[in-house]
Amino acid sequence: MKSGEGMKSYAVQTVPNGGHRNSTSRKLEGKPLASDALPLPVGLTNKIFMVLFFSASYYLMRRWREKIRTSTPLHMLNLGEIAAIIVQLASFIYLIGFFGIDYVQTFINKSVDGSWDSEDYREAGVNCQASQPDSCTPSIPRTPALLKGKPLKEHSDEDISEAVRNGETPSYSLEAELDDCERAASIRKRAVELVNGRSLEGLPLEGMDYSKILGQCCEMVIGHVQIPVGVAGPLLLDGFEYTVPMATTEGCLVASTNRGCKAIAQSGGASSVVTRDGMTRAPVVRFQTAKRAAALKYFVEDANNFETLSVIFNRTSRFARLQDVYCVMAGRNVYMRFSASTGDAMGMNMISKGVQNVLTYLESVFPDMELISISGNFCADKKATAVNWIEGRGKSVVCEAILKEDIVRKVLKTSVPALVELNTIKNLAGSAVAGALGGFNAHAANIVAAVYIATGQDPAQVVESSQCLTMMEAVNGGRDLHISVTMPSIEVGTIGGGTQLPSQAACLNLLGVRGANADMPGANAEQLARVVAAAVLAGEISLMSALASNTLVKSHLKYNRSSQNLLPSSQSSQNIAALTGGLLSQNVSANQTPPLPRSSSSSSFRHRRTGSSSSPPQRLD
Ligand code: ADP
Repeated sequence: MKSGEGMKSYAVQTVPNGGHRNSTSRKLEGKPLASDALPLPVGLTNKIFMVLFFSASYYLMRRWREKIRTSTPLHMLNLGEIAAIIVQLASFIYLIGFFGIDYVQTFINKSVDGSWDSEDYREAGVNCQASQPDSCTPSIPRTPALLKGKPLKEHSDEDISEAVRNGETPSYSLEAELDDCERAASIRKRAVELVNGRSLEGLPLEGMDYSKILGQCCEMVIGHVQIPVGVAGPLLLDGFEYTVPMATTEGCLVASTNRGCKAIAQSGGASSVVTRDGMTRAPVVRFQTAKRAAALKYFVEDANNFETLSVIFNRTSRFARLQDVYCVMAGRNVYMRFSASTGDAMGMNMISKGVQNVLTYLESVFPDMELISISGNFCADKKATAVNWIEGRGKSVVCEAILKEDIVRKVLKTSVPALVELNTIKNLAGSAVAGALGGFNAHAANIVAAVYIATGQDPAQVVESSQCLTMMEAVNGGRDLHISVTMPSIEVGTIGGGTQLPSQAACLNLLGVRGANADMPGANAEQLARVVAAAVLAGEISLMSALASNTLVKSHLKYNRSSQNLLPSSQSSQNIAALTGGLLSQNVSANQTPPLPRSSSSSSFRHRRTGSSSSPPQRLD
């Protein structure tokens, strides 16, 4: 981003660290608010100036009444009156100059979709659809598309599908044209079938409120995929019992987690601690020279400037609060890693808004700064990285339990020494041998993914959210087992994104963490993170026990192996290959000839690669 191009300038007030007066510039498309120039939130500043204005007016009126009574000439002013007049004038100028503009701007911004400054002042889930629940019509007036001279919506579904197939009507415009989200999805689904010549029978349309999805969760909708939701529990955590919803198609997973919950509960429960709570975003900017890049680094990391940056950042949201920002350099590029608390939201949108505001300010201080991207991958979102593993992202949680010796024996069918040894050799040494980055666990991702899907989290964030170090130690004279999971990057929210969809909201409700926490913003999301960690703990306990007692393959064969006739004989060989590839995803390529039957001496590693159609390979983790 080059400063100076297509920008308008205006003066900025002094910053709270007693600092400087700057002339800043904004891109027109950045939709600046006049209030951005204020050192305090606009609401508070307005109140202060209003109080000043009315106090000064009141004082002057009283003084003039006295003068009239005592026949003193009105133009004879004492010091107090002069001060009151100055205060009155100043606050009057402010009130029309800033309050007035800001007031007008709220109307302007309402009409602009996705405004970064106004978005946070609407309630989560209140989007263009929520304000018009039964409508898919965008707020901006538009001319309806015509098909053979008639508005699209007046044609039959089959004709519209045909028009989409022929390219006469763009598929993406169906919701807006038809003003009916479900009809649009149904027509698009039909058009997709026509274009591909393949049936979508089995992909349901009914049972979903598509108006809640549009503009928020998914585009080009043709239906919804069904994933069964099971429950594990009661999970006794920090003295409370939770029933944990898990959406999965992996047999055994819920049953196994349930067994872990039982072992935890019978041993007195698990306890958790949240050591950090901050979403991160790291934009990358570039300068002509590394020396200039270093100047930005010094400026951003200077403790004296933090207050300025946080005021500018925090102004974008009632919930985002800047905690920290630091920079790393790569030549003349600077990556600034911002960290902020985001209330009950997972926070990616929120932090991006705050960072955008700070960048605009920094551009005014460093006019030679060029914004390369608001995300420079040092954030690091949806990638397995050392920065998240070491510093954390979202909620950093440690969850622990002490499992009694007899519970390990009776419920888990193994022994404390066997578990400790297995953990060292598998989760620690084995993962080290594999060069794991935060993968020092048995199957944290299994539980994280299932809970994330059930509760409307971003499933792609399972990548870093499942970074987990599982520790097992013998305690109490070697009799009992201390087990813990350390998870530095659990990225969850209970408001925004997919959490507002009815089924996901129901699962959050089951955990008692649905929506925003009115008393303590952020408490619901934090509680959800604790539950995720505790469920992972349960999953680790159970899978590790199954491995230690060598019962895993047996239980998977019982619960994770389809007994259904999977392949109707009439299906084409292509469909058979596709179906086999889908079911045995990680094991069998769709183009391979059927693999040989498993040899009895195969190792578990070989099982994963050599399944047969009669003996599907088992997923071990
Ligand atoms: P994310 O940043 O996770 O993508 P969004 O910004 O899309 O989430 O959704 C959060 C929205 O919810 C914001 O507009 C915010 O103002 C609103 N909100 C209401 N209550 C809360 C709360 N307790 N915590 C966080 N956000 C809240």
